[in-house]
Amino acid sequence: MGKKTTTSVRDLLFGDLWEYAPAPQSTDFVDLDDAYGHYIDGEFVDVGAEDSFQTINPATEEPLADIACADEATVDRAVKAARKAYDTVWSKMPGRERAKYIYRIARMIQEKARNLAVVETMDGGKPIKESRDVDIPLAAAHFFYYAGWADKLDYAFPGAQVRSLGVAGQVIPWNFPLLMAAWKIAPALATGNTIVIKPAETTPLTAMLLAEIIDEAGLPPGVVNIVNGKGETGAAIVNHDDVDKVAFTGSTEVGKIIQRAVAGTGKKLTLELGGKGANIIFDDAPIDQAVEGIVNGIFFNQGHVCCAGSRLLVQENIHEEVIQKLKRRMSTLVVGDPLDKNTDIGAINSREQYERIAELVASGEDEGAEKFQPTCSLPDSGYFFAPTVFTDVTPSHRIAQEEIFGPVLSVLTFRTPEEAIKKANNTPYGLACGIWTDKGSKLFRIAGALKAGVIWGNTYNKFDPSSPFGGYKESGFGREGGVHGLLPYLEVR
Ligand code: NAD
Ligand code: MN
Repeated sequence: MGKKTTTSVRDLLFGDLWEYAPAPQSTDFVDLDDAYGHYIDGEFVDVGAEDSFQTINPATEEPLADIACADEATVDRAVKAARKAYDTVWSKMPGRERAKYIYRIARMIQEKARNLAVVETMDGGKPIKESRDVDIPLAAAHFFYYAGWADKLDYAFPGAQVRSLGVAGQVIPWNFPLLMAAWKIAPALATGNTIVIKPAETTPLTAMLLAEIIDEAGLPPGVVNIVNGKGETGAAIVNHDDVDKVAFTGSTEVGKIIQRAVAGTGKKLTLELGGKGANIIFDDAPIDQAVEGIVNGIFFNQGHVCCAGSRLLVQENIHEEVIQKLKRRMSTLVVGDPLDKNTDIGAINSREQYERIAELVASGEDEGAEKFQPTCSLPDSGYFFAPTVFTDVTPSHRIAQEEIFGPVLSVLTFRTPEEAIKKANNTPYGLACGIWTDKGSKLFRIAGALKAGVIWGNTYNKFDPSSPFGGYKESGFGREGGVHGLLPYLEVR
């Protein structure tokens, strides 16, 4: 007794009694190519004379593959292929036939789930238990769900006539690479549109595996085209004259550029942008469950989640208890190798994102908020950031206003439900909120007063393909998921 000096609450709780043994996910079955080009008109196009870049594993900083960067001519080829497929095949095919292809994609994602999960984790840094249990199963679920709508569009909007739009141009982010591809591709196919989609530059690999699935599923050439590249490639898709619909998920900054670019062109647009979600804990909430919900709300996927519960609003009289329990729980989080099955928090997706997070955390300290991080040993290479909570935050602090998109929580307090509503809505964003209370009537009243597209009651970060998702204000517009998710891809008369 008294020999060991420890600071970590984890040590105080468990001492030397036990530690997790390493539980590495094997990767020996993963067979990646050295280089990936594009998938256009049913053909895999090699990296040619175009520029290329590397995608790396953010947990090791080792390169995984060379990736081609599509220029305007390549994007034009992809759009022409999509147009031809739309005019000659896909728009004429009965919904029940389209559905068969979409079901096939869903089943093949399930069959190849293990490979997809491991590659998702290697390319993007998220914990294997999340890619395995959340990303990949939900991606399959989206294809299953929208396959079911393909032959029922006439019943989706009673009394209206619906028609597909044509070619959809889609640009997606790096936080849920395969899942965001599924959110974009599945409803577009179900409604009879053809597609040109670009994955994010740090996470192109599962999109390339999806191209292989789509190819094996026998989709007519040109129905789905996947082009790689960075921002300029995304812009070339958005600005192409023969694109009828643009769907974008990513930063509010780029969303605004796209909105300006599309204005007046007649292209239909949906934007899923950033967020600064409030997770509101009332004093009548089940506190231990709420603490789990707080942890899940901000540390799931390293906090790279647009609907993350990144602002914690705690009723003042339970502030101390909640923060104490939260800190203790944070000290048990396993941070490190994303391929270890016990890991809770993996690698930050890129060096750029790591630097953005570090800069905002420094601003929180400079502006006078109180920072807590549990002691945890981070790997020497790779981009790792300890789970962080800020107390003594005021609503004007940058960390209370700006999206951090990392494992960083800002805590604010409130006294009355009215104050909670006011503070929750005090943000340019309006994507998601959580409410924790024992009282159902309170939950519904508060939910009705919050300006957010998604509101969770006594839970957080739960997703289902049948449930619409999307924002208000600077979080964007349009819904993905559910019946609502069909609308952006249809002309309704
Ligand atoms: P980003 O918006 O730059 O990138 C998202 C996608 O858009 C990528 O595929 C990118 O290649 C593409 N893109 C970039 N510029 C484009 C343009 N001018 N026209 C068309 N497409 C373009 O996001 P980022 O720089 O990777 O991240 C910055 C911040 O954005 C993050 O810190 C986070 O706050 C936020 N973000 C939000 C989400 C979300 O799901 N809402 C996702 C990623 C990032
Ligand atoms: Mn990568």
